[in-house]
Amino acid sequence: MAAERVEDEDEDDREVGHVIVEDDTAGISAEEAQLTAVGSAHSFLSAADIELIQTVAEELKSKLGHEARGFDGSWDTWFLHTAGVFGERLSGLRDRLVGLAQKLDKDGGWGMLKSGDIEEGRVQLRCVEFHEMREGGGLYDPTHKDDGSLITLDCMLAEPGEDFGGGTFQTLEADGTMKEHQFEQGDVVGFVSHKYHCVQPVDWGERSVMILELWRGELRTCPHRCEQPTGRCVHAGQLVELKGLEDSLPQLKQAMLDASRAFKAQELKMQIIKGEVEAEGSSAGAQKRQHTK
Ligand SMILES: [Zn+2]
Repeated sequence: MAAERVEDEDEDDREVGHVIVEDDTAGISAEEAQLTAVGSAHSFLSAADIELIQTVAEELKSKLGHEARGFDGSWDTWFLHTAGVFGERLSGLRDRLVGLAQKLDKDGGWGMLKSGDIEEGRVQLRCVEFHEMREGGGLYDPTHKDDGSLITLDCMLAEPGEDFGGGTFQTLEADGTMKEHQFEQGDVVGFVSHKYHCVQPVDWGERSVMILELWRGELRTCPHRCEQPTGRCVHAGQLVELKGLEDSLPQLKQAMLDASRAFKAQELKMQIIKGEVEAEGSSAGAQKRQHTK
């Protein structure tokens, strides 16, 4: 495994500047990822943890980045990391989950995290998603993978068999079989992001999960699953203003003043041009009148 990692790093270097994010940041192919085992932590989340996640999500749904993914409204996703909400409201849980990702990586021998990656901030949370999947909703593609991320954590918030039916989490293994994974309420399933995974259609009820993806990139607070590991995201401007509105008011006021000044300057310029045209027009008229005399 160690020798393979070195090769991956070389591959990374060649891919620097390439548009395909997955090769820049993950350093593992789907074939390699397929050989890794899914890890899990049974009852990792307490009832209080789950309630807190659901309360925060419900409270902020209208303000968080949102994506409708299923047909006929069967699958909704809200981005809990929008404007840093997840880190602010659920910091304790975040720390425990990042710690779990480190443990699963170590225990599973995945080698996705290098020494100091988390501590020194080279690996960060790319996104934290709150999913609600209803009848017919599912992640059907058997070769779906989370491109560009290192480790994905899937937290089961609902009670299978009580809150919903179907919706089984599966992975496509190297031998071509689909492996079903036991996934009870409060369990967290973790895997190498490039490992093929899917979710069978939900038959009834509502399947709610929280998904976290770690990547070799900056901590993201833009209201979507970001594709840009470093630098200012082009979607950062779409941020829903949840906090710091008061702090941003002076800037907003200044921006409006600037815009108003620019508008007035433009208006003045237009008046001058108009005045010149009119002056020209009247002098031409005067000349015309002189000719007709
Ligand atoms: Zn972004």
